[in-house]
Amino acid sequence: MLISVTSLSGYLYCPRKLFLTHVLGLVEVPKEVLVKGSIRHETYDSINKIEEELVKSITKKPTLKALTSKYETEYTKILKDAVNSYRDKLKELNLDQSETFNKILPYFIRESQIRSLNLFSFIEKEGLLGEELWQSLIPKIRSEIKINSQNLQLKGIIDQIEVWKNRLVPVELKTGKMPFGGVWPGHRIQLGCYALLLEEKYGSTINYGYVHYLDHEEKRLIKINHFLRSEINDLIKKVQALMVSQEIPGFCGNENKCNACGLKETCSNNELIQNKLTEITTN
Ligand code: SF4
Repeated sequence: MLISVTSLSGYLYCPRKLFLTHVLGLVEVPKEVLVKGSIRHETYDSINKIEEELVKSITKKPTLKALTSKYETEYTKILKDAVNSYRDKLKELNLDQSETFNKILPYFIRESQIRSLNLFSFIEKEGLLGEELWQSLIPKIRSEIKINSQNLQLKGIIDQIEVWKNRLVPVELKTGKMPFGGVWPGHRIQLGCYALLLEEKYGSTINYGYVHYLDHEEKRLIKINHFLRSEINDLIKKVQALMVSQEIPGFCGNENKCNACGLKETCSNNELIQNKLTEITTN
C-alpha cells in the first residue's frame, strides 16, 4: 500500500486525527486560517506555472517599472481567480471575498516586486530576451510535481523543485506559524520524503531542500542525512500499520493542536466514532 507523504506528517501531528480522517473517513470542518492558506498556496503555485510564458514574452528590454507592473498585473489576476475558486468555502465561513483578496494582495505585490527586480538584474547582466532569456534563467521552478515509488512505498505531490544546472532542490511551501528555530517535525519529514522520491526518480543524490514559510517570507534549510532517511522508513511502517488497524489511537494531549484541529468537535464523540468503526469493520 502506497502511503501519501502528507499522511506521514499527519501521523506526527496526531495519529488519532489521521485514523479518524483516513480510516474512518471523518471530514474536517474548514477553518479560516486553512482556507486562506490554501488560497495563498494555490496562487503561489499558479504564478510559478506562468513564469515560463511570462519570461518568454519579454522580447524588448523593459524598464524596471514596466516589468514590475507586468508582474503585478499577472499576480493580481491569479489571486483574484484563486479567491473566486474558494468562494463557497469563504461563504461557509462568513468571509467576504473582496476583504480576503485585499488582505492577501500585499503579499503577492511584494513577491512580484522581488521577482521582477531579480529578472531585471539578470536581463541587465546577460543582455538576453525571450526564449534565450528563459533558457538561461537559473534556477527554473517546477511546481506541483506528482511522484510515487513502489520501492519506497510513498506517493506525493512536491510543491516546488528548483532546477539548477547540476542539482535539484525540493521546496515545500507552508502557510501559518513558523517555529523559533528549524522547521516543524512534520515539515521536515515531508521535505525528506520528497528528496527520497526525487533521488529515486532522477538517480541523483539530494543533499538538502527548503521549507518556505510563506507568511514569514523565510526559507529554512533541511539537510537530507542518514537519520532522516531511517526516521522516514520507520514512520512509513507505523502509518501502514495504523491504516489497517481497528484500534482508535488516543488523544494527542496538545491543546494548541486540538484548538487548530478541524475535528475538535467530533474527536471526543465516542458514540459516533465507535459506530463508524463498526460500520467499517462489518462491511
Ligand atoms: S482534536 Fe486533538 S486529539 Fe482530536 S484529532 Fe484533533 S488534534 Fe487529535
